[in-house]
Amino acid sequence: MNKISIIVPCFNEEEVLPAFYQETKKIVSAIEQTPYEFIFIDDGSKDHTLDILRLLSYQDGCCKYISFSRNFGKEAAMYAGLTEATGDYCVIMDADLQHPPALLPAMYQAVSAEGYDCCAGKRVGREGDGFLRSFLSKSFYHVIQKMTHLNMSDGAGDFRMMNRRMVNAILEMKEYNRYTKGIFSFVGFETKWVEFHNVERAAGKTKWNIKSLFSYAFDGILSFSTAPLKIPGVLGLILLLISAGLGVTTVFHPKTWLMVTAIMIFLGSLQMLMVFILGQYLSKDYLENKKRPIYIVREESDSVSSLSTGNITEFKKAVR
Ligand code: UDP
Ligand code: MG
Repeated sequence: MNKISIIVPCFNEEEVLPAFYQETKKIVSAIEQTPYEFIFIDDGSKDHTLDILRLLSYQDGCCKYISFSRNFGKEAAMYAGLTEATGDYCVIMDADLQHPPALLPAMYQAVSAEGYDCCAGKRVGREGDGFLRSFLSKSFYHVIQKMTHLNMSDGAGDFRMMNRRMVNAILEMKEYNRYTKGIFSFVGFETKWVEFHNVERAAGKTKWNIKSLFSYAFDGILSFSTAPLKIPGVLGLILLLISAGLGVTTVFHPKTWLMVTAIMIFLGSLQMLMVFILGQYLSKDYLENKKRPIYIVREESDSVSSLSTGNITEFKKAVR
């Protein structure tokens, strides 16, 4: 039987949790012959979130919770939820009803019957967010996409249902500085995208402010890109070219100040280039330290039970 685990990070969500539980339960329990569990992660809430979770787990055997000793952040909460989940399919949802539970049946269909490993929600529109936040987010995703070559687009968030194979691959990534959006992209697998409209949170307040968004963006770049360590290399080369130009000029116009400037810039460029070389060693060591898997298997011959895919008859003729 295909069990669904619904993972819900919660930080001060007392105002919205009851509505989230009722609405999501109504929808998930209507998916036929599919057991489910809720895994709530109380991320060090200071309000009555934990009391509500205690009550839910007391009343409903399908509700489990973990409560952190302090606020560790949503990334840690998602990792804890995926670790605790026992389902064949895991879906991560925000508690504020910004991730529409109505999409769950379609997501389940995609991962259980359509051959996808993951069905991810892609938010279109940003009606619930302010102008500045929308603008900064869009710019950030543009930059990070260029720097990491991973597919991380604006609107593609953590709301996604994944099969066990993909969840296990994510759990293999044990790095401490977690940037789950990057991890989803790094592990690969077949993903189906379903769009949903952004809505304002049902109740309560967002946990983000401009400072935390900047630090999140910075973490994302540092976790998945070593490109900033190449900056001294580029600067060093530019300085080297300038000093060479000045050096040649001093041959035709021998002036002391020109020669001194050329030598100073040349020494500066050497320093930059040395920093670049150090950075390259550092970046290798940094990636090595993360101990990420060298490859991730999606399928192997042992797992072939039936051949039913589209053009397979063509290939059957060819390999006979
Ligand atoms: N959250 C969390 N720990 C935090 C911040 C947020 O577990 O430190 C949870 C929060 O309770 C919610 C989800 O992460 O379920 C998304 O948070 P929020 O709605 O504030 O983010 P936004 O939708 O504004 O991006
Ligand atoms: Mg929200």
